[in-house]
Amino acid sequence: MEIANAVVMAQRFLSPRLAAASLVVDATAGNGKDTLFLAGNIPHAAVVLAFDIQQQALSKTHEILTKYGLEHKVRLILDSHAHITKYINQPVDAAMFNLGYLPGGDHAVSTYPDATIEAISHTLPLLRTGGIVTIVAYPGYDHGRLECQVVHKYLAGLSQNQFAVACWSMVNQKNSPPVLYIIEKIGSE
Ligand code: SAM
Repeated sequence: MEIANAVVMAQRFLSPRLAAASLVVDATAGNGKDTLFLAGNIPHAAVVLAFDIQQQALSKTHEILTKYGLEHKVRLILDSHAHITKYINQPVDAAMFNLGYLPGGDHAVSTYPDATIEAISHTLPLLRTGGIVTIVAYPGYDHGRLECQVVHKYLAGLSQNQFAVACWSMVNQKNSPPVLYIIEKIGSE
């Protein structure tokens, strides 16, 4: 396997789990690339729930899904990922978080540590044993650095009997490259 950027590495970790998935989550739909990846790699009858707080992001996501004929596999939700339990009451096979702001959008409308931690802490109990969550964080700017630190601290405190948590990033790139966290549910308690 070749080394790639954090977003591509997230997809590589997720890919093998998607073939038998029923329900997967894109917690930050943005421009729809991750949603498209999920929708294109799950079985015919499986569903992606894709969250974003910006209608602009969900419209972009709908547009790209329609272009590839995959819109029927995705439910778009205009709400914070912190409210995930309002929409899901069955086991989740995989979830992606791609933190930060909408590329090409308003940089002030970004993920924030409180809602991010709330969303992660609500998503992990929904995860099926063997399921994974990927989180790409961006420590290359002030707000992103703080969010990355908060996420790291939260994940480092998870029970090692219940979760395997890994962290991946390029170490020879300038300007604090993105960090990928991978969380696998390995036990129920
Ligand atoms: N996954 C996207 C893609 O493939 O294009 C990129 C996501 S972008 C880096 C981050 C997105 O998170 C933005 O569109 C932003 O509106 C969204 N966001 C920020 N806070 C959120 C929240 N509390 N709940 C859901 N989405 C949120």
